[in-house]
Parts: sequence; C-alpha cells; structure tokens
Amino acid sequence: MSINGHPVSETPLQADEKGRLVFHPSLVEQPGKVLRIKVVFWNEQYPKTAHSEVPEFTWLTGKKIVRLRAYNIYEMTPRSIPNENNEPTTYKRPYHLVKPGDTWERIEKETGINQYVIIWENGLDEATPLSTLVGKKLYFPRGSRKGHAKSEDRNKKTDINKKEGNNVLPVRSENNGKPLDIVSQNADKCLCHRDFTVDEFKLIIQKLHKSKVIPNLWIPSLKTGAAPNDKSYESSVKELNRILEKYEINSCLRKLHFLAQVFHETHGFRSAQEYGKTLSYDPYRGRGLIHLTHRFNYKSFSNYVNDEAIMINPHLVATKIEYVFESGGWYWRKGSAWGDLNKWADKDDLYYLNIGVNGGFIGFKERIEYVHTLIKLLHIKECSQVGKNGNLGIYSYSSSDIRNTKYGKRNEQKFKKFDMP
Ligand SMILES: [Zn+2]
Repeated sequence: MSINGHPVSETPLQADEKGRLVFHPSLVEQPGKVLRIKVVFWNEQYPKTAHSEVPEFTWLTGKKIVRLRAYNIYEMTPRSIPNENNEPTTYKRPYHLVKPGDTWERIEKETGINQYVIIWENGLDEATPLSTLVGKKLYFPRGSRKGHAKSEDRNKKTDINKKEGNNVLPVRSENNGKPLDIVSQNADKCLCHRDFTVDEFKLIIQKLHKSKVIPNLWIPSLKTGAAPNDKSYESSVKELNRILEKYEINSCLRKLHFLAQVFHETHGFRSAQEYGKTLSYDPYRGRGLIHLTHRFNYKSFSNYVNDEAIMINPHLVATKIEYVFESGGWYWRKGSAWGDLNKWADKDDLYYLNIGVNGGFIGFKERIEYVHTLIKLLHIKECSQVGKNGNLGIYSYSSSDIRNTKYGKRNEQKFKKFDMP
C-alpha cells in the first residue's frame, strides 16, 4: 500500500474472502494532510496488468469503509464489423447527464444503479461533489438498460482489443455480430441430458432481460444486494451444469422451469441476495439461486454440505459461487416445504412451482412470462419427452395440483386471475 506515492507497508496488504482489506486509520488519516490513495488489485489468478490499478482517490476523514471496484477486463465484446442490418461499428451506451441539483439518491432511483457502481464505472473519486460534475456524462455499466441511451463511438476499445490479439473478435465476427443462435447450433439436440454451452446461457440471459447486448452477470442494482466474487459467464455456466446434473434437473421441462424460477429469484442473475435494508429474519435473509431464507433452512443446508461456517457467516451463500448454485439445486429437490419440485416440473405445473419456490404470489406473472419466453427460445416443444403436448405453457388453476392443497383452495380466486382466457 502506498499513500501520496510513499509505501506505507512493506508487503501488499491481503484482502479477505469478501475482498475486504482492514487497516488502521492512522495509515490514511494524517491531520492537515489530504491523502491520495492508489489501490492495485491482483492475485495469482489475475496478475498485475495496466488495468489492475484503480484511479487514485482522496480519503475522506472519518470514513470507515470505502468501496472500490476493479476493472473487469475480461468481458469486452465489441462489434468489429457491421452487423446483419449493416449498422456501423458503434453501439449505444446509456448514460446520465448530470444536471444542477442532482443527488446520488435521485440518480440511483432514476437509473436503478448503485452510486458506487457508477462512480467506479466512470473512474470518479468518491470525494468529488456531484455539483462539480454538472454537464458531464455518467456512463452506466455495460448491460444496463435503464436511462436514455445515446450513441457513442467505441472504436477506441476495438483498437485496444486488436492490438492485444484478443480472441473475442474472431468469434464474434464469424457470427456477424449476432449472438449464436440455439436453433442452428443444436437443431438436433434438445436439452435433455446435456450441458448448457456458455453461448446458450448468454442468449438465455439476454432474451429474458429483453436486452440488446449481453448483460453482465452478478451486478446487483441495489446496495443491499450481494453477488458471488466470480462474475464470469464461464464460472456460472460451469456451476449451473454441475448442479443440474447433481440434482437431476436434467430434462428439457426441468431445466425450463428451474431457469425461469431462478431468473426471477436472482433478479435476472444480478443479485444472489434478497434486497432490503433490514429484514425481520436477518441475518438469514434470502440468498442463493433460490432464496434460502430463515435460520432453519440455513441449518439444513449447512448440514447437507457439511460446512458449519455457513451458520456463522450466512453471507457465504451469496458470495461463494459454489454455494450460490448448490443451495438452488438443494432447495429444488430437498429444501422446499412443497416437496421435490422436479415432480411438478415434469407435469409442467407452473402454478404449483411458483408457490413451491416463492411460497406466495411474488412475481407470479413474471415467472409465467419467463417460462413462455424459454419455451420458444429453447424449443421445448420439440423435445421428444415432451412430445406433442399441446398444453405446454398453458396454465390454469383447474389443471394444477395446487387446487388439491389447503393453500390452493384458500387462494383459488387469486390463482384464477392468472388463468389464460
Ligand atoms: Zn429434451
């Protein structure tokens, strides 16, 4: 660590598992002095490069926590050649134009993006007052959809990429800037008993978000969210495939329903933790692919994976990527009070699954929409196991097993509101 250009510790300070670095305030607070701090992120996996340095920033006296974000240099996918519509080599990137009187609270509310994400995306200093940025553009992280998008030339990035011989470009060029399509790639292969490819998963996330670009994974849009430290598509797909096999979520129907539910639970693979400042069941708030909630559920899961650390630090279920995914698979087969959810996925009984996962009606409509999108995208109707089931995707109270439960009977009218006409 160095302050004002002078090293203050001989060896680099090491961050803990959550990326936190703890040091004595006397290191950064010296009376009468403005201290400028520079942080370099690196470890064995990601060695130092020109991108490891975060822009220098001013330490604010009395601060206890400063959030920093390392540049993500592994996910640049610029378009190098005109796409199929012959659009030029530019793409849109949304930003917020700072107006007089703007506050971070208002910008967060308008854009749905955490202020610290914006600060670090734009290489700003937390100490800089917003009033001095009036007239400047604050760019949102790539993949954000909210706010007004305006065209910006990104040729600069493309040039850097060419120089470094980044292998992203040839892959994108082959497909003319268009995401790989599942139809052409796997026309004869349904999803039964095979892994998802990274490209398929990217397309799934993009289509469910109705986004023009492939969104970044695991960037919570609210401060109270949390996400695994490893945000790469590769790692998420690896973990997804691992738990789908382990928990026998292995057919087209099972995968369809699992993905639709999980997409809703994680706010679109953005947060592995339930949003909210304080919740009555804290610290055992919802975490993981399917919100693991309440102490008794954490206890069962911690026993199942034989890791007592989870009870001491329940946050692990949102930050350790293996647990983020494992807890989802576990809940689907063993954790839900409604039983083994594979059974209802096999029957395409979405009303039952919605209750089995959520325990209520939160996101009921969205979950139906996700299933409809995925049926088309993943060609579920063509799966030989599903057969020519003309009822696939048509859901109603009277055709659901939920009507045979006490909960179902009590809420009959609520369910019927979602029935297709
Ligand atoms: Zn199939």
